[in-house]
Amino acid sequence: MEIYLEWIQEYLLAIVAVVIMVILFFHYLVEKDTGVKLSKRYRNSIFEAQSKVFLNATQYLISGNKDLAIKEFLNAVDINRETIETYFALGGLFRSNGEIEKAISIHRSLIARENISESHRLRALKELAIDFDKGGFVDKAVETYKDVLKINRDQFEVIQSLCRIYEDVEDWDQAYHYRIMLSKVGHNNQAETISHILVQKARIYFEKGEFAKSREDLEDAFRFAPSVSAKILRLRVQLHDGNLEQAKFSLLELLKEHPMYASFIFESLEEGFKGEEAEQEQYSTRLTMLRDYFLELDDSEFLNSPSVILSKVRLLKSRNMLEKAYAIMEPWVNNHPHNSQAIYSEYIKLLIDLGKSEEVVKYTKDFLNSFHQSLTKHYCNECGYNSDEIFWRCPQCHSWETIQFRWKV
Ligand SMILES: [Zn+2]
Repeated sequence: MEIYLEWIQEYLLAIVAVVIMVILFFHYLVEKDTGVKLSKRYRNSIFEAQSKVFLNATQYLISGNKDLAIKEFLNAVDINRETIETYFALGGLFRSNGEIEKAISIHRSLIARENISESHRLRALKELAIDFDKGGFVDKAVETYKDVLKINRDQFEVIQSLCRIYEDVEDWDQAYHYRIMLSKVGHNNQAETISHILVQKARIYFEKGEFAKSREDLEDAFRFAPSVSAKILRLRVQLHDGNLEQAKFSLLELLKEHPMYASFIFESLEEGFKGEEAEQEQYSTRLTMLRDYFLELDDSEFLNSPSVILSKVRLLKSRNMLEKAYAIMEPWVNNHPHNSQAIYSEYIKLLIDLGKSEEVVKYTKDFLNSFHQSLTKHYCNECGYNSDEIFWRCPQCHSWETIQFRWKV
């Protein structure tokens, strides 16, 4: 598959050239029978000239000379200005060749033409928006995509592009607006993504200390879908509001559903918000109580997850409760022959702290045997993107909630 893709990329221009030749030949055949105005001889000469131009262009392309190929295509446009497909092909060719300005001027000239059908004009406008988008002119791309939607709202790809741009720049109000629009035009269910976007809005309000607005958006998020990010933020809100019992229940529910998120949940809870000092202190007291509750939990349902074990051990170590950490880790390590490096390294560090030198030697050997390089804390299970940051939306493939956790050594 990859070999084919590479081949297509390498010969993209040549393929386009051949396609154009076929189109022109088809035009020639159609016009040959229906031609009214042009004399037969004149038409034949145009076709010959075009064929020659495209043969030249194809040759340049095969020899890798893209600039000369494009020059030949421009010649063809001069020969028969009515062949609109040639313009579109040429515009696309310039764009894929990175010559955005030339692509823009071709598409602009198409839009400005008087003798062009409305559907062609709309198509040219869409192409122009893509030019701006690819060229990194974000504002102009947005404006032009919106112009397309003013003419025809039923444009899935255009709306999708606007969603991507607004999510990239983290304009969550606009991202929400266009995601809703997308859900009306397309057949894919957007509820999960809309929930994530609303959680982003709610999180920003929460951190700014605007709790009423935060609660409102968070409720909306749950109305669309109970995404993990929504549940984690709800936990933060409950701690802030002083609903400790509810917070305990939410934590338990989260751990049962997603034990692998254990460490991330506690990391998120530590992130602050703007507010009075007393408010902050209350929050951190409640957080300590929630941590105590977590350490007391003894539920085999989710205690079977290495992430939960490690979260507990790290929490205990930060409180200097080494014997208790050892009591949790020792049976775990011995009952699971294929442990991750994170488990081993955490365990060995603990053994060193406790002065258990014989065990240190034994487990260091196991650890070295299991060694694979691991570089980042998180990765995307869709495209493999690696990052130490938390990403609900993958910056590389733009999928939502594809993040996977690995434990950093
Ligand atoms: Zn990805």
